[in-house]
Amino acid sequence: MKRITRLSGFLFLLIAVLVGSQLLPGQQEHPLAGVDRRILVEIAENSEQMENLRYLTDRIGARLTGTEALKRANEWTAQRFRDYGLSNVRLEAWPIEHSWRRGTARVRVVAPEEEWLAAEVGGWSPNTPGPVRGPLVYVKAETKEELEAYRGKLGGAIVITSEPRPRKRKEERPLRPREPEPRRDFAARIQFARVRDDFFQEEGVQGILRDSDKNFGLFNMSVASFGHPYQPAPIPVAFLTPESYDLLWRLAQDGQGVEVELEISGCEFSDGPVEVYNTVAEIPGSEKPDEVVLLGAHLDSWDLATGATDNGTGVSVVLEAARALSQLGLKPKRTIRFVLFSGEEQGLHGARAYVEAHKDELERISAVLVHDAGTGRVETIALQGNAQAYDILRELLAPLRQMIGVADLSLRTLGGSDHAPFNRAGVPAFFCQQERATYRQTHHSQVDTFDKVIREDLLNGAQVMAVFAYNVAQAEAMLPRPPKKE
Ligand SMILES: [Zn+2]
Repeated sequence: MKRITRLSGFLFLLIAVLVGSQLLPGQQEHPLAGVDRRILVEIAENSEQMENLRYLTDRIGARLTGTEALKRANEWTAQRFRDYGLSNVRLEAWPIEHSWRRGTARVRVVAPEEEWLAAEVGGWSPNTPGPVRGPLVYVKAETKEELEAYRGKLGGAIVITSEPRPRKRKEERPLRPREPEPRRDFAARIQFARVRDDFFQEEGVQGILRDSDKNFGLFNMSVASFGHPYQPAPIPVAFLTPESYDLLWRLAQDGQGVEVELEISGCEFSDGPVEVYNTVAEIPGSEKPDEVVLLGAHLDSWDLATGATDNGTGVSVVLEAARALSQLGLKPKRTIRFVLFSGEEQGLHGARAYVEAHKDELERISAVLVHDAGTGRVETIALQGNAQAYDILRELLAPLRQMIGVADLSLRTLGGSDHAPFNRAGVPAFFCQQERATYRQTHHSQVDTFDKVIREDLLNGAQVMAVFAYNVAQAEAMLPRPPKKE
């Protein structure tokens, strides 16, 4: 059964490549079409992605930044790159202040009635000093001034700071025209989170309970405090399932006093700083080795499951693009570099460290492309508003449209992954816009496992990344720089 599905999937890809490449009368073949076709067929026929991804997820497992498992994943991916014949394979170290090991969270409502809640400890949360009890208080504040209204009222409290997120149980069709939502940028949110943490600490808050923006018992793990990366968070934090959070919220609305007990135990911090690593490998350029096209994904994951769709899929895509380009013996004009970042989940820290360590060569990075939205096929490449590069890339990547039906490029800005620090430093850095599949539910949750991965879509990701890298490496010139953003 499995063999039949795999075979038909392969035939589908092969037919798509062959049929898609038929030229209309009078149409000239793209100068890179011949090589691109070989890349697409190599991946369709000989991909090792599923084997690689299964090893990474089932055998190495969760890859929280700072853990031995992530280090093993660094070493294993470096070895894969070597096996595939890549050059300059190395682990580039950067430091974090403390590694952290997950303990357990026990949370229950003790008044008006006893109710146990489903909880997990937030990343880098400290333990509570045993079970702690306090009144549940909803703190509704998005500015320093709004926080002041709570001064003197939070001693011993256990707080929640958000209304439950809308649970998207079906596609939303608005009844009224949508108003554009004001979005505060990430830096401003981090800054306020820091102010709020400090305020809670001064006021003697005992714990924070956070909502998981998911459905059906799924957690959405994150750091306890974005304001204090890799340090013990100022206040213990537990994440609740949506159902538990909704219950808490409804009880709070009843207006009777709600009392909650929280116990976080077993979390451990390293005594001092720990080195973590980005895995780096290259196919050296034959004519302009100093100029670089960079393909990226992140090797680290959250630790409630095995990080299959976030971002084992991207790792397997980058490894496969490297394998295929190397296997075909291609000699790109520019260097193609493959980087598997760490520290992404705590705030893109591995990519930031990479940008800092390589600041002298950023001007010679022609382009960066990152794959980090799960298993879905690549619909198009989001250019992050980089209109200068649009026409050039549209021409360079025409074979992807013609041969495997990648949609026309998009100027959309999709944030939240390792391309962002490159963009901020003025490097043209793009993101694969992917079909959603189950990503919204699986990522950061306890069900982010190998079974969620769709083989054909993953192969498509590698095809897009490999052709992108090769064609941009062959271009006449480097891609134009976007205007610098702060
Ligand atoms: Zn990710």
